[in-house]
Amino acid sequence: MDSSKKFLLQEKDIPTAWYNVMADMKNKPRPMLNPANKQPMKAEDLYPLFNKACSDQEFNTTDQWIEIPEEVREMYKIWRPTPLVRARGLEKLLDTPAHIYFKNESVSPVGSHKLNSAIAQAYYCKQEGVTNITTETGAGQWGAALSLAAKHFGLALAVYMVKVSYHQKPYRRSIMQTYGAEVIASPSMSTRAGKDIITNNPNYQGSLGTAISEAVELARTTPNCKYVLGSVLNHVGLHQTVIGLEAEKQMEMAGEYPDVVIGCFGGGSNFSGISFPFMRHNLSGERNTRFIAAEPASCPKLTRGKFQYDFGDEAGYTPLIPMYTLGHKFAPAHIHAGGLRYHGAGSVVSQLMQDGLMSAVDIQQLDTFKAATMFAQSEGIIPAPESSHAIAATIAEALKCKEEGVSRTILFNLSGHGLIDMSAYDQYLRGELTNFEYTPAPNL
Ligand SMILES: *Cc1c(COP(=O)(O)O)cnc(C)c1O
Repeated sequence: MDSSKKFLLQEKDIPTAWYNVMADMKNKPRPMLNPANKQPMKAEDLYPLFNKACSDQEFNTTDQWIEIPEEVREMYKIWRPTPLVRARGLEKLLDTPAHIYFKNESVSPVGSHKLNSAIAQAYYCKQEGVTNITTETGAGQWGAALSLAAKHFGLALAVYMVKVSYHQKPYRRSIMQTYGAEVIASPSMSTRAGKDIITNNPNYQGSLGTAISEAVELARTTPNCKYVLGSVLNHVGLHQTVIGLEAEKQMEMAGEYPDVVIGCFGGGSNFSGISFPFMRHNLSGERNTRFIAAEPASCPKLTRGKFQYDFGDEAGYTPLIPMYTLGHKFAPAHIHAGGLRYHGAGSVVSQLMQDGLMSAVDIQQLDTFKAATMFAQSEGIIPAPESSHAIAATIAEALKCKEEGVSRTILFNLSGHGLIDMSAYDQYLRGELTNFEYTPAPNL
């Protein structure tokens, strides 16, 4: 029996193309709509806000593979390929017959998978002569990743950071500032969207939806400035497929193929990244893998949201996106998994969910920290609160295997480490963390 723990690839094995699942979907995601006239949008309609290459990728439902630019691959080499690890310690702790593997995206310089898309988006902006970019960030992982990518390609970056995280996670702010980005707590008085929200609710601690509104407004009112988004959109999920493409080769090295693939779920990018390359074999009829998105019980768009057109942001500036949503006015509870506090799911994932090609589970905050602690003690890595949702879902699957007396191969994505989230762990260890129930927004 192979007793290996880690499965490592070489630089030459970094994928040369991203996998575009839309090309293989029988039911393509419904198009975005222009909110003004409810007409389907085209790539050109996004050009004023986004770079052209990503706008084109957003609407590309025909090319199965999209080449990764050489400069992007070159920068991926800083930390890719990432390890695939057999979680033998966790298997032993759970005393489960399941084989558990995780793809370790926490080894990136910023500690999460977000850099996979940040580099691609900054590269395309630079190529197209853009000088300034702007974005939002929840817990700060996306902002940190984009700060590094922007600096590398010589772009000036302004980041709107959700206020609760700005104060709860000061080190992520410092990381962004160290890479040279400007960081603004959102809601802020620097945009009309922010001012309106503060006027109505002076104590509002912010949400990703609000921060998106502010960044979009800045991009619209600043010359030569583009907006970049770290999740939800199709092109972001596309860039993240390097995760699953590498994992596919590594599972082969391990001599196994996953029965279950699990990712935590904010807007869907890391879930898409680990899942889609394996899902292509389901779509072609060769395999029957189960895909599970793990979301917070307090922000359960896939398990309790509605599949309908909704805005991507709180102020209603973005196109209407066909998504599982809790309503764009939904104000999520202040859980520590800041990256999962988003009201909707991307349109590709929403369509796959609608078509029964994947499923979702929702997990309470205390269960995620319990799972995180078990993982830390058995595997040595302190996971991000977001990733801990995937770990909790994995543990539940592994325990089901034990109950049923069957062995399954489970693969999950470790989307990030939690070393900058230790104040959350502190609260957990002091017994001060609570669960949050989901309360539907009045407009849903
Ligand atoms: C941002 C983030 C997430 C959630 O975003 P997705 O787009 O759903 O992947 C999950 N884990 C980590 C570590 C993150 O930084």
